Amino acid sequence: MTTWTLARRAQKMNPSVIREILKITEKPGIISFAGGLPSPKTFPVEAFDQASQRVLQNDGAAALQYAASEGFLALREHVAQNLPWEVDPDQVLITTGSQQGLDLVAKILIDSGSRILVETPTYLGALQAFAPMEPVVASVASDAEGPDLNSLSQQMGSGANAARFFYVLPNFQNPTGRTMSEARRAALVEKAAELGLPLIEDNPYGDLWFDTPPPKPLTARNPDGCIYLGSFSKVLAPGLRLGFLVAPKTLYPKLLQAKQAADLHTPGYNQRMVVETLKGGFLERHVPTIRSLYKNQCTAMLQALDTEMQGLGLEWNTPDGGMFLWVRLPDGMNAVELLPKAVDAGVAFVPGAAFYADNADPRTLRLSFVTASVEQIHTGIAALAQAIRTFAKG
Ligand code: PMP
Repeated sequence: MTTWTLARRAQKMNPSVIREILKITEKPGIISFAGGLPSPKTFPVEAFDQASQRVLQNDGAAALQYAASEGFLALREHVAQNLPWEVDPDQVLITTGSQQGLDLVAKILIDSGSRILVETPTYLGALQAFAPMEPVVASVASDAEGPDLNSLSQQMGSGANAARFFYVLPNFQNPTGRTMSEARRAALVEKAAELGLPLIEDNPYGDLWFDTPPPKPLTARNPDGCIYLGSFSKVLAPGLRLGFLVAPKTLYPKLLQAKQAADLHTPGYNQRMVVETLKGGFLERHVPTIRSLYKNQCTAMLQALDTEMQGLGLEWNTPDGGMFLWVRLPDGMNAVELLPKAVDAGVAFVPGAAFYADNADPRTLRLSFVTASVEQIHTGIAALAQAIRTFAKG
C-alpha cells in the first residue's frame, strides 16, 4: 500500500467557500448576485477575433514558442506607460492573472509563522493564496474610508514578529465596494513608511469608476515601499488570465525566480493578442462602456434596495465603482442562515463571513450587481426582501 503524506502547507489549503456556495446557487431559475464574474457582455470577442488573426499571420511561430518569464516587452511597456507614476518596464512582471501575483508575493515574503496584515474584510482569494505559506494573519480594523491606522500600529508586531506586509485594496474593494479616501491613502503610506511596513496594493477594479477616477494609488506615493498588482480580467476578459505586478528593482529577481518555478511564463499568444487589441487606444473606447453598464446596474440595485428593504433595518453602502455592494443585516440575523431561505426564494448572495481572516461579522453579505440584468436585479432584490421577512418571523 502506498502512503501519501500531505505536506503541512497542503493541509492549510481549503476549498474556496465561494465556489462551494456557487454550486448550491447554480440551480436553474436562481438569480445570482453571488459570483464575482464580470459581465460577459463586456468581453471584446470581435476585437480579439481580429487581433488573433493578425498575431497568427504576422507572428504565429513566436506567439506559440516558449517566451521570456518577465513577459512580452511590448505589453510590459504598455503597462508601464499607463500607470500614473514613473515605472520602468523592467519593473513589470506579467503574471497569469493577478491571482498569480498574490501567490508569488506569498512565496517570496512569507515564512511559516510570519505575521502578515490584511484589511477587515478582505479578498478571499488572497487569504487562499497566502495560507499555504503558513502565515499568522492579523486583521486591521477598517471603516468607510479604509484601514484604521491605530489598529495598524497595534497589529504591526515588532522585532522578528513584525508584519512582513499589509495587503490592501484601495479601489472598489472586493468584497465591500469601498474606496480608500485621499486623506487615508496619504496617512497610510506615511504610517507604513514610519513603521518600515511594505504594502501590497491590489487594484483589479480601479478603472471601473462610475463618475470620477479614484485618488492615485498608494504605490505612486512610495514606489520603493510597495508591490502593485494589476489585471486585464475586469477591463478585457478574465479567461485570458493576464495580470501584472510592479515591484521595486531589488525584489524583482526573486519574484521572477518564483514565476519561473511556477509556470515559466504567461502564455505568449495571449500577451501578443492583447498588445494587438490595445493598439490605437482600444481601452480608451472600451472601458467607458463597461463603466456605464456597471453604473447603470449599480443604480438599479440601490433603487431596488431602497424600495424593497424599507423598514427592514438593513444597511448598505453606495459604491463609486467596481462590481460589489456590501450589505449588513439587522441585529440578530445571520447571513449564512439566511442563504438557504434566499435560495428557496430564488436569489443568491455570498455571506460576508467568508471574507474575514478572523472575527467575522455574521450580519454581512456581498452582492454583485454586474452579472444580473436590471430586470433580474429588481426581481432578485424583491425575493431577498421576502426571504428576510420570512427569516425575521423565524
Ligand atoms: N484580486 C482581487 C481583489 C480580485 O477580486 C480578483 C478576482 N476576483 C483577483 C485579485 C484575481 O484576478 P485575476 O487573477 O483574474 O487577475
